[in-house]
Amino acid sequence: MNEITGAGWNETPDGEAGPDEVNETVDAGGTEPSVDGAGADNVHETTGPGEAGFPDAVGNRTTEADVNEAAEADESVPPPAAVSRTTIVAIANQKGGVGKSTTAINLGASLAIQGEKVLLVDLDPQGNATSGLGVDRSSITSSVYDILISDMPPEDIIEPTSVRNLHVIPATIDLAGAEIELVSTFSREQRLRNGLKSLDDDYDYIIIDCPPSLGLLTINAMTAADEVLVPIQCEYYALEGVGQLLKNVELVTNNLNPALIVEGVVMTMYDGRTNLANEVVQQVRAHFGETAYDTIIPRTVRLSEAPSFGEPIEAFDEMSRGAIAYRELGREFRRRHGRT
Ligand code: ADP
Ligand code: MG
Repeated sequence: MNEITGAGWNETPDGEAGPDEVNETVDAGGTEPSVDGAGADNVHETTGPGEAGFPDAVGNRTTEADVNEAAEADESVPPPAAVSRTTIVAIANQKGGVGKSTTAINLGASLAIQGEKVLLVDLDPQGNATSGLGVDRSSITSSVYDILISDMPPEDIIEPTSVRNLHVIPATIDLAGAEIELVSTFSREQRLRNGLKSLDDDYDYIIIDCPPSLGLLTINAMTAADEVLVPIQCEYYALEGVGQLLKNVELVTNNLNPALIVEGVVMTMYDGRTNLANEVVQQVRAHFGETAYDTIIPRTVRLSEAPSFGEPIEAFDEMSRGAIAYRELGREFRRRHGRT
Protein backbone atom coordinates (compact mmCIF):
# COMPACT_ATOMS: atom_id res chain seq x y z
CA MET A 1 0.00 0.00 0.00
CA ASN A 2 2.75 2.41 0.85
CA GLU A 3 4.44 1.63 -2.37
CA ILE A 4 1.55 2.92 -4.40
CA THR A 5 1.16 5.98 -2.24
CA GLY A 6 4.82 6.81 -2.30
CA ALA A 7 5.06 6.49 -6.05
CA GLY A 8 2.06 8.71 -6.42
CA TRP A 9 3.34 11.58 -4.34
CA ASN A 10 6.72 11.59 -5.94
CA GLU A 11 5.39 11.60 -9.45
CA THR A 12 4.54 15.27 -9.42
CA PRO A 13 7.08 17.54 -7.88
CA ASP A 14 5.58 20.36 -5.94
CA GLY A 15 5.64 23.76 -7.45
CA GLU A 16 5.43 22.34 -10.93
CA ALA A 17 2.55 24.63 -11.68
CA GLY A 18 3.41 27.83 -9.96
CA PRO A 19 1.43 31.01 -10.47
CA ASP A 20 3.82 32.13 -13.21
CA GLU A 21 3.00 29.20 -15.40
CA VAL A 22 -0.68 29.63 -14.73
CA ASN A 23 -0.72 33.27 -15.73
CA GLU A 24 1.32 32.58 -18.77
CA THR A 25 -1.04 29.87 -19.80
CA VAL A 26 -4.42 31.35 -19.10
CA ASP A 27 -3.89 35.02 -19.58
CA ALA A 28 -5.41 35.04 -23.02
CA GLY A 29 -8.29 37.30 -22.17
CA GLY A 30 -8.03 40.85 -20.99
CA THR A 31 -9.46 40.17 -17.55
CA GLU A 32 -7.00 40.26 -14.73
CA PRO A 33 -7.57 36.97 -12.98
CA SER A 34 -8.04 37.09 -9.26
CA VAL A 35 -5.73 34.69 -7.57
CA ASP A 36 -6.17 35.84 -4.02
CA GLY A 37 -8.27 32.82 -3.31
CA ALA A 38 -11.20 34.88 -2.19
CA GLY A 39 -13.76 34.20 -4.81
CA ALA A 40 -14.06 30.71 -6.19
CA ASP A 41 -17.77 31.09 -6.73
CA ASN A 42 -17.78 28.24 -9.14
CA VAL A 43 -17.79 25.44 -6.65
CA HIS A 44 -21.01 23.51 -6.64
CA GLU A 45 -23.09 23.76 -3.45
CA THR A 46 -20.23 24.10 -1.08
CA THR A 47 -20.79 24.75 2.56
CA GLY A 48 -17.39 24.24 4.09
CA PRO A 49 -15.64 27.00 5.99
CA GLY A 50 -12.72 28.74 4.34
CA GLU A 51 -9.27 27.96 5.63
CA ALA A 52 -5.79 29.12 4.91
CA GLY A 53 -4.82 28.39 1.34
CA PHE A 54 -8.35 27.67 0.22
CA PRO A 55 -10.52 29.73 -1.98
CA ASP A 56 -13.60 30.54 0.02
CA ALA A 57 -15.82 28.13 -1.80
CA VAL A 58 -19.36 29.23 -1.22
CA GLY A 59 -21.08 29.45 -4.56
CA ASN A 60 -23.41 27.51 -6.72
CA ARG A 61 -23.65 26.44 -10.31
CA THR A 62 -23.05 29.45 -12.56
CA THR A 63 -26.33 30.65 -13.99
CA GLU A 64 -26.93 31.59 -17.58
CA ALA A 65 -27.31 35.21 -16.48
CA ASP A 66 -23.88 35.12 -14.84
CA VAL A 67 -22.39 33.76 -17.99
CA ASN A 68 -24.02 36.35 -20.22
CA GLU A 69 -22.92 39.11 -17.89
CA ALA A 70 -19.37 37.84 -17.93
CA ALA A 71 -19.42 37.55 -21.69
CA GLU A 72 -20.77 41.08 -22.11
CA ALA A 73 -18.23 42.49 -19.73
CA ASP A 74 -15.34 41.03 -21.63
CA GLU A 75 -15.57 40.19 -25.30
CA SER A 76 -12.64 37.84 -25.06
CA VAL A 77 -14.78 35.49 -22.97
CA PRO A 78 -16.33 33.07 -25.41
CA PRO A 79 -20.13 32.85 -25.38
CA PRO A 80 -21.60 29.85 -23.58
CA ALA A 81 -21.77 26.74 -25.69
CA ALA A 82 -25.14 26.04 -27.25
CA VAL A 83 -27.15 23.76 -25.00
CA SER A 84 -25.88 20.30 -25.71
CA ARG A 85 -26.94 16.91 -24.53
CA THR A 86 -23.34 16.04 -23.84
CA THR A 87 -21.79 16.86 -20.48
CA ILE A 88 -18.01 17.10 -20.49
CA VAL A 89 -16.27 16.26 -17.23
CA ALA A 90 -12.57 16.94 -16.62
CA ILE A 91 -11.05 14.70 -13.96
CA ALA A 92 -8.28 16.87 -12.58
CA ASN A 93 -5.78 17.12 -9.75
CA GLN A 94 -2.22 18.17 -10.41
CA LYS A 95 -0.96 15.54 -8.00
CA GLY A 96 -0.04 12.24 -9.54
CA GLY A 97 -1.29 8.98 -8.11
CA VAL A 98 -4.52 10.25 -6.56
CA GLY A 99 -6.82 8.08 -8.65
CA LYS A 100 -7.62 10.26 -11.67
CA SER A 101 -7.12 7.57 -14.29
CA THR A 102 -8.66 4.86 -12.14
CA THR A 103 -11.72 7.06 -11.63
CA ALA A 104 -11.88 8.04 -15.31
CA ILE A 105 -11.84 4.40 -16.38
CA ASN A 106 -14.16 3.00 -13.74
CA LEU A 107 -16.65 5.84 -13.49
CA GLY A 108 -16.74 5.83 -17.30
CA ALA A 109 -17.37 2.08 -17.39
CA SER A 110 -19.92 2.29 -14.60
CA LEU A 111 -21.88 5.01 -16.43
CA ALA A 112 -21.71 3.05 -19.68
CA ILE A 113 -23.01 -0.11 -17.99
CA GLN A 114 -25.84 1.95 -16.52
CA GLY A 115 -26.87 2.89 -20.05
CA GLU A 116 -25.05 6.15 -20.73
CA LYS A 117 -23.02 6.63 -23.87
CA VAL A 118 -19.54 7.57 -22.70
CA LEU A 119 -16.36 8.76 -24.38
CA LEU A 120 -13.15 8.81 -22.36
CA VAL A 121 -10.53 11.25 -23.62
CA ASP A 122 -7.05 10.34 -22.41
CA LEU A 123 -5.17 13.62 -22.04
CA ASP A 124 -2.19 12.25 -20.11
CA PRO A 125 0.97 11.39 -22.09
CA GLN A 126 1.40 8.41 -19.77
CA GLY A 127 -1.69 6.93 -21.37
CA ASN A 128 -2.89 5.05 -18.29
CA ALA A 129 -6.53 5.37 -19.26
CA THR A 130 -5.73 4.11 -22.76
CA SER A 131 -3.84 1.01 -21.64
CA GLY A 132 -6.18 0.49 -18.69
CA LEU A 133 -9.02 0.08 -21.17
CA GLY A 134 -7.10 -2.51 -23.15
CA VAL A 135 -6.12 -0.32 -26.10
CA ASP A 136 -2.67 -1.34 -27.31
CA ARG A 137 -0.67 1.88 -27.46
CA SER A 138 1.87 0.49 -29.92
CA SER A 139 -0.80 -0.20 -32.53
CA ILE A 140 -2.41 3.23 -32.43
CA THR A 141 -1.90 5.41 -35.48
CA SER A 142 -3.74 8.50 -34.28
CA SER A 143 -4.47 9.90 -30.87
CA VAL A 144 -5.64 12.93 -28.94
CA TYR A 145 -2.39 14.60 -30.02
CA ASP A 146 -3.79 14.79 -33.56
CA ILE A 147 -6.88 16.63 -32.33
CA LEU A 148 -4.76 19.19 -30.50
CA ILE A 149 -2.05 19.69 -33.09
CA SER A 150 -3.35 18.65 -36.52
CA ASP A 151 -7.11 19.31 -36.32
CA MET A 152 -7.90 15.68 -37.03
CA PRO A 153 -11.61 14.92 -36.58
CA PRO A 154 -12.19 12.87 -33.41
CA GLU A 155 -14.39 10.43 -35.33
CA ASP A 156 -11.20 9.14 -37.00
CA ILE A 157 -9.50 8.51 -33.68
CA ILE A 158 -12.14 7.00 -31.40
CA GLU A 159 -11.54 3.37 -30.41
CA PRO A 160 -14.07 0.94 -28.98
CA THR A 161 -13.41 -0.78 -25.64
CA SER A 162 -14.53 -4.10 -24.21
CA VAL A 163 -17.42 -2.26 -22.54
CA ARG A 164 -20.43 -1.53 -24.72
CA ASN A 165 -21.14 2.22 -24.96
CA LEU A 166 -17.67 3.12 -23.70
CA HIS A 167 -15.28 4.53 -26.29
CA VAL A 168 -11.86 6.08 -25.88
CA ILE A 169 -9.72 8.68 -27.59
CA PRO A 170 -6.28 7.28 -26.77
CA ALA A 171 -3.10 9.08 -25.79
CA THR A 172 0.38 8.27 -26.98
CA ILE A 173 3.70 9.49 -25.69
CA ASP A 174 3.94 12.21 -28.36
CA LEU A 175 1.36 14.06 -26.26
CA ALA A 176 4.27 14.89 -23.97
CA GLY A 177 5.55 17.29 -26.64
CA ALA A 178 2.13 18.79 -27.33
CA GLU A 179 2.28 21.11 -24.36
CA ILE A 180 5.31 22.86 -25.83
CA GLU A 181 4.04 22.72 -29.40
CA LEU A 182 0.76 24.30 -28.30
CA VAL A 183 2.44 27.36 -26.84
CA SER A 184 2.81 29.01 -30.22
CA THR A 185 -0.52 27.78 -31.61
CA PHE A 186 -3.54 29.93 -32.31
CA SER A 187 -6.19 29.63 -29.54
CA ARG A 188 -3.96 27.19 -27.78
CA GLU A 189 -6.27 26.84 -24.77
CA GLN A 190 -9.27 25.99 -26.91
CA ARG A 191 -7.87 23.29 -29.19
CA LEU A 192 -9.60 20.42 -27.38
CA ARG A 193 -12.90 22.26 -27.02
CA ASN A 194 -12.94 23.02 -30.75
CA GLY A 195 -11.79 19.52 -31.62
CA LEU A 196 -14.57 17.82 -29.66
CA LYS A 197 -17.29 20.08 -31.06
CA SER A 198 -18.05 17.85 -34.02
CA LEU A 199 -19.10 15.07 -31.65
CA ASP A 200 -21.98 17.29 -30.56
CA ASP A 201 -24.63 15.01 -29.18
CA ASP A 202 -23.02 11.65 -29.91
CA TYR A 203 -22.32 11.02 -26.23
CA ASP A 204 -24.09 11.56 -22.92
CA TYR A 205 -20.79 12.10 -21.12
CA ILE A 206 -17.28 12.88 -22.25
CA ILE A 207 -14.78 12.24 -19.47
CA ILE A 208 -11.32 13.76 -19.79
CA ASP A 209 -8.48 12.15 -17.84
CA CYS A 210 -6.05 15.00 -17.11
CA PRO A 211 -2.29 14.76 -16.63
CA PRO A 212 -0.75 15.46 -13.21
CA SER A 213 -0.01 19.13 -13.85
CA LEU A 214 -1.82 22.41 -14.33
CA GLY A 215 -0.22 23.19 -17.67
CA LEU A 216 -1.76 23.73 -21.09
CA LEU A 217 -3.18 20.22 -21.40
CA THR A 218 -5.20 20.58 -18.20
CA ILE A 219 -6.19 24.10 -19.23
CA ASN A 220 -7.45 22.64 -22.53
CA ALA A 221 -9.48 20.08 -20.58
CA MET A 222 -10.99 22.72 -18.29
CA THR A 223 -11.78 24.96 -21.25
CA ALA A 224 -13.57 22.13 -23.04
CA ALA A 225 -15.40 20.93 -19.92
CA ASP A 226 -18.68 21.77 -18.25
CA GLU A 227 -17.52 20.35 -14.95
CA VAL A 228 -14.43 19.42 -12.99
CA LEU A 229 -14.36 16.30 -10.84
CA VAL A 230 -11.49 16.23 -8.34
CA PRO A 231 -10.24 12.94 -6.91
CA ILE A 232 -8.63 13.33 -3.50
CA GLN A 233 -6.57 10.53 -2.04
CA CYS A 234 -7.28 9.70 1.61
CA GLU A 235 -3.64 10.03 2.59
CA TYR A 236 -1.17 12.50 4.07
CA TYR A 237 -1.35 15.97 2.52
CA ALA A 238 -4.62 15.07 0.85
CA LEU A 239 -5.69 18.69 0.52
CA GLU A 240 -2.30 20.04 -0.37
CA GLY A 241 -2.49 21.69 -3.77
CA VAL A 242 -6.28 21.64 -3.92
CA GLY A 243 -6.41 25.39 -3.26
CA GLN A 244 -4.12 25.93 -6.23
CA LEU A 245 -6.32 23.68 -8.35
CA LEU A 246 -9.43 25.68 -7.42
CA LYS A 247 -7.63 28.93 -8.25
CA ASN A 248 -6.87 27.51 -11.67
CA VAL A 249 -10.50 26.63 -12.19
CA GLU A 250 -11.27 30.23 -11.29
CA LEU A 251 -8.73 31.53 -13.78
CA VAL A 252 -10.34 29.43 -16.47
CA THR A 253 -13.85 30.63 -15.58
CA ASN A 254 -12.64 34.25 -15.62
CA ASN A 255 -10.86 34.01 -18.93
CA LEU A 256 -11.91 31.08 -21.01
CA ASN A 257 -14.96 29.15 -19.87
CA PRO A 258 -17.37 31.07 -17.62
CA ALA A 259 -19.76 28.15 -17.18
CA LEU A 260 -17.20 25.76 -15.70
CA ILE A 261 -17.99 24.44 -12.21
CA VAL A 262 -16.35 22.12 -9.74
CA GLU A 263 -19.07 19.53 -9.75
CA GLY A 264 -17.61 17.13 -7.27
CA VAL A 265 -14.82 15.85 -5.13
CA VAL A 266 -14.39 12.11 -4.80
CA MET A 267 -12.31 10.55 -2.07
CA THR A 268 -10.19 7.63 -3.22
CA MET A 269 -7.96 4.90 -1.75
CA TYR A 270 -9.75 5.00 1.57
CA ASP A 271 -8.43 2.58 4.16
CA GLY A 272 -10.94 2.48 7.00
CA ARG A 273 -8.43 0.86 9.36
CA THR A 274 -6.43 4.04 9.65
CA ASN A 275 -7.38 7.11 11.68
CA LEU A 276 -5.71 9.21 9.06
CA ALA A 277 -8.14 8.18 6.33
CA ASN A 278 -11.08 9.04 8.57
CA GLU A 279 -9.55 12.41 9.39
CA VAL A 280 -9.14 13.16 5.70
CA VAL A 281 -12.77 12.29 5.08
CA GLN A 282 -13.86 14.68 7.83
CA GLN A 283 -11.59 17.41 6.53
CA VAL A 284 -12.79 17.04 2.95
CA ARG A 285 -16.45 17.05 4.03
CA ALA A 286 -15.83 20.16 6.16
CA HIS A 287 -14.19 21.99 3.26
CA PHE A 288 -16.40 20.89 0.43
CA GLY A 289 -19.77 20.12 1.98
CA GLU A 290 -22.12 18.63 -0.59
CA THR A 291 -19.59 19.01 -3.37
CA ALA A 292 -17.95 15.91 -1.87
CA TYR A 293 -19.49 12.69 -3.10
CA ASP A 294 -21.06 10.45 -0.45
CA THR A 295 -19.49 7.46 -2.14
CA ILE A 296 -15.93 6.81 -1.04
CA ILE A 297 -13.63 4.58 -3.08
CA PRO A 298 -11.79 2.05 -0.89
CA ARG A 299 -8.18 1.09 -1.37
CA THR A 300 -8.25 -2.39 -2.83
CA VAL A 301 -5.66 -4.49 -4.59
CA ARG A 302 -8.14 -5.54 -7.26
CA LEU A 303 -8.51 -1.94 -8.41
CA SER A 304 -4.77 -1.65 -8.86
CA GLU A 305 -4.56 -4.99 -10.69
CA ALA A 306 -7.31 -4.39 -13.21
CA PRO A 307 -5.41 -1.95 -15.51
CA SER A 308 -2.69 -4.48 -16.28
CA PHE A 309 -5.42 -6.72 -17.68
CA GLY A 310 -6.77 -3.82 -19.73
CA GLU A 311 -10.13 -4.02 -18.02
CA PRO A 312 -12.31 -1.78 -15.90
CA ILE A 313 -13.01 -3.27 -12.49
CA GLU A 314 -16.56 -4.15 -13.59
CA ALA A 315 -15.16 -6.57 -16.15
CA PHE A 316 -12.19 -7.71 -14.07
CA ASP A 317 -13.99 -8.54 -10.84
CA GLU A 318 -17.54 -7.33 -10.67
CA MET A 319 -18.09 -8.66 -7.14
CA SER A 320 -15.09 -6.81 -5.69
CA ARG A 321 -15.42 -3.88 -3.29
CA GLY A 322 -13.86 -1.61 -5.89
CA ALA A 323 -16.46 -2.57 -8.48
CA ILE A 324 -19.28 -2.01 -6.00
CA ALA A 325 -17.86 1.40 -5.04
CA TYR A 326 -17.46 2.64 -8.62
CA ARG A 327 -20.94 1.31 -9.48
CA GLU A 328 -22.30 3.33 -6.57
CA LEU A 329 -20.27 6.39 -7.65
CA GLY A 330 -21.85 6.05 -11.09
CA ARG A 331 -25.32 5.94 -9.54
CA GLU A 332 -24.61 8.98 -7.39
CA PHE A 333 -23.14 10.83 -10.37
CA ARG A 334 -26.26 10.07 -12.41
CA ARG A 335 -28.54 11.15 -9.57
CA ARG A 336 -26.68 14.44 -9.30
CA HIS A 337 -27.11 14.92 -13.03
CA GLY A 338 -30.83 14.25 -12.87
CA ARG A 339 -30.52 10.96 -14.75
CA THR A 340 -32.37 8.75 -12.30
P1 ADP B 1 -3.53 9.30 -11.23
O1 ADP B 1 -4.20 9.09 -12.54
O2 ADP B 1 -4.12 10.38 -10.40
O3 ADP B 1 -2.04 9.45 -11.37
P2 ADP B 1 -4.08 6.49 -10.79
O4 ADP B 1 -5.53 6.32 -11.01
O5 ADP B 1 -3.18 6.09 -11.93
O6 ADP B 1 -3.75 7.98 -10.35
O7 ADP B 1 -3.68 5.70 -9.48
C1 ADP B 1 -2.34 5.64 -9.02
C2 ADP B 1 -2.00 4.21 -8.65
O8 ADP B 1 -2.83 3.79 -7.59
C3 ADP B 1 -2.24 3.23 -9.77
O9 ADP B 1 -1.28 2.23 -9.71
C4 ADP B 1 -3.62 2.65 -9.47
O10 ADP B 1 -3.78 1.35 -9.98
C5 ADP B 1 -3.63 2.67 -7.97
N1 ADP B 1 -4.98 2.89 -7.44
C6 ADP B 1 -5.87 3.85 -7.80
N2 ADP B 1 -6.99 3.78 -7.07
C7 ADP B 1 -6.83 2.75 -6.21
C8 ADP B 1 -7.62 2.16 -5.17
N3 ADP B 1 -8.83 2.64 -4.89
N4 ADP B 1 -7.10 1.10 -4.50
C9 ADP B 1 -5.87 0.63 -4.79
N5 ADP B 1 -5.08 1.12 -5.73
C10 ADP B 1 -5.53 2.18 -6.45
MG1 MG C 1 -3.41 9.26 -14.46
